Amino acid sequence: MPSFGFDNSYARELPGFYVAGQPAPAPAPQLLFLNDALASELRLDATALRGADGAALFAGNVLPDDAEPIAQAYAGHQFGGFSPQLGDGRALLLGELIDRAGRRRDIAFKGSGRTPFSRGGDGKAAVGPMLREVLIGEAMHALGIPTTRALAVAATGETVRRDVALPGAVLTRVAASHLRVGTFQYFLARGELDRLQRLADYTIARHDPALAGTPERALGLLHAVAQRQAALIAMWMNVGFIHGVMNTDNMTISGETIDYGPCAFIEAYDPQTVFSSIDHGGRYAYGNQPHIARWNLARLAETLLPLMADAQDEAAIQCAVAQVTEVIDAFPGLYAAALLHGQRAKLGLFAATAADDATDTALAQDWLGLLNAQSVDFTLGWRQLAGAAEGREAPLRDLFVDRAALDEWLARWRERCAHDDAAGGPGATLRAARMRQASPWVIPRNHRVEEALAAATDGDLAPFEQLLAALRRPFDEDAAFARYAEPAPADATARYQTFCGT
Ligand code: AMP
Ligand code: MG
Repeated sequence: MPSFGFDNSYARELPGFYVAGQPAPAPAPQLLFLNDALASELRLDATALRGADGAALFAGNVLPDDAEPIAQAYAGHQFGGFSPQLGDGRALLLGELIDRAGRRRDIAFKGSGRTPFSRGGDGKAAVGPMLREVLIGEAMHALGIPTTRALAVAATGETVRRDVALPGAVLTRVAASHLRVGTFQYFLARGELDRLQRLADYTIARHDPALAGTPERALGLLHAVAQRQAALIAMWMNVGFIHGVMNTDNMTISGETIDYGPCAFIEAYDPQTVFSSIDHGGRYAYGNQPHIARWNLARLAETLLPLMADAQDEAAIQCAVAQVTEVIDAFPGLYAAALLHGQRAKLGLFAATAADDATDTALAQDWLGLLNAQSVDFTLGWRQLAGAAEGREAPLRDLFVDRAALDEWLARWRERCAHDDAAGGPGATLRAARMRQASPWVIPRNHRVEEALAAATDGDLAPFEQLLAALRRPFDEDAAFARYAEPAPADATARYQTFCGT
């Protein structure tokens, strides 16, 4: 198959960090999804990829001439326990493309068969979970949240065995890189400090080139990752996203969301919400995500310490520990600032200054407290607040049982909006419009996602395609998509479970 124009820096610059491999053959490839807009970003010809050639390519049967498929090595803490060797057990990096905007992007298969890192697994994936990656990834992208994205999904024509027999599929995933906290942990665990240094330098050249060659670059990298993750997690929290499995191997250095397995969006607001069937202790509960991000950063920091100080030099080690501790301890502040920034847009406060921080934080917290106490739908609560900003209060009031509590809060909020306008804020109409750009009308609601994936598994892609169309325009109130804005029945949410064995 013709070349893609790959430039494979990882394969070229980091020999020993991966194992070469080939995708398993697929008996009957069929293209289920192709992302035209993303193909165009990558300078790929979507029309040419739509036919039988595309199906063969995206199922792994025929690769571009310049692909160099490799399984990357990484380790990771899973639910707090360390696994020194995970690696791409069912994924292959095909290569890297420079997109139209000049960004280097990884093109990788997921579900393409066994690799030396497969351990007990079959290396395969099923149609439902791979289309789930499409839906959630595209939704996140449309919401403005950094994320890996799906370029294509092809059914393989093979049956994969999970609890039941399922149709197999391969996802083609596009990522700023697949470098993870766990990639660094792999080389630290093996005591390979030379390689750790090379990994850090490769990562810095790729994601933080301004730090390249500087003496304090390891610390700088930690700080950059902390900033990106603080911004990312704040965006998750402001749309009600629960990743579900924030293991260190699922936390990127790039700051993109990765690995849409047991993830789900919150319905009625409750910070303790957990949907993952294997998260018994609630480690990855919605409200715990900022704490886990910090914990994961501390694991990254451990890997960078040997690059910052000689192990024999006690004073240098102490100094390095103090430096990374300062970054880790600054994380809650970075996160709080990013969260408040997002919350202000959702609250309609556009002329705020640092002097308003305490008031606005309390206003946001009390609002969330109300949503929690009255089990209000998180997405609709925020969305209808925008209507209230221009005097349409009934749809908001309808969401609350204790309206006196709501009124009390609304009085504070209106006063705060008046203060915002006095300071140069946008006024009621524009405020409402801008709030609607910060609080989506449509999110991938769990019951709709399940419905679409169940139909797709049975061979009917229409519900998947309709849902995808709605998710790509999350801020528009299009009557044609009204069913996607409705909350799930409470009993469906109470019973809802997501699974890791994707
Ligand atoms: P994940 O939960 O998707 O982040 O995966 C964690 C680890 O398990 C990674 O090393 C995966 O490559 C590996 N893994 C997950 N599913 C499979 C599978 N079906 N076959 C082989 N390895 C897998
Ligand atoms: Mg993973």
